[in-house]
Amino acid sequence: MRVMLVEDDDGVADALADGLRGFAIRTLRARRADDLLRDHVLADLVLLDLGLPDLDGLDALRKLRRVSNVPVIVLTARNDERSVVRGLRLGADDYLLKPVGLNVLLARIEAVRRRVRTNVNGPRGVVRIGDIRIDLDARQVVVGGTAAAFTPTEFEILASLAGRVGQAVSRELIMDEVWGDAYLAASRSLDVHIAAVRAKLNRPGLISTIRGFGFRLEEPPACATDYSPRS
Ligand code: CA
Repeated sequence: MRVMLVEDDDGVADALADGLRGFAIRTLRARRADDLLRDHVLADLVLLDLGLPDLDGLDALRKLRRVSNVPVIVLTARNDERSVVRGLRLGADDYLLKPVGLNVLLARIEAVRRRVRTNVNGPRGVVRIGDIRIDLDARQVVVGGTAAAFTPTEFEILASLAGRVGQAVSRELIMDEVWGDAYLAASRSLDVHIAAVRAKLNRPGLISTIRGFGFRLEEPPACATDYSPRS
């Protein structure tokens, strides 16, 4: 796999590249947001610093998400909650603080990759709920006849719920399926991503919160009145 290091600090980038090389992970270097936006198609995954010389990393992420669903892990010293939440809302799949240990970084890369690869485990089929069509194999969601763009993480959360329509699904199970581990940071990420999934489905009541437990994707007709087709 090829990981693009978007990092203007050569010392940091060299250390990351050396560490990843030991695990047979090739790296591409990008020192500026412009390089990322030009070369992202060459990468299987992007590690994104936020303090870049030409454009703030969060703005670069927003631009990237208009054209690509490549997995992105933000890797930054910026640890204020607002930046973390913004990064996740803009479509980062994970958010790590510098300095990060190599083993933690590898585990997060592997977890993100596992999410993206989930559909190699055989066909999972199509789930239809009212006017929403979720193709679990093609990783496509159509809402009211219009394709909706989900990031890999958002899609996996939706897929986790769609595989169990009408059942309450625990936060722990979703986090385990999506992140590969119910680690603490994922808990906040889950809420941010659930909010994004709800916004993109645009069907109030379709995903219920089960307080103290998790979430449930409702079956029609319980929520059908909320999204009857427009005529
Ligand atoms: Ca920087």
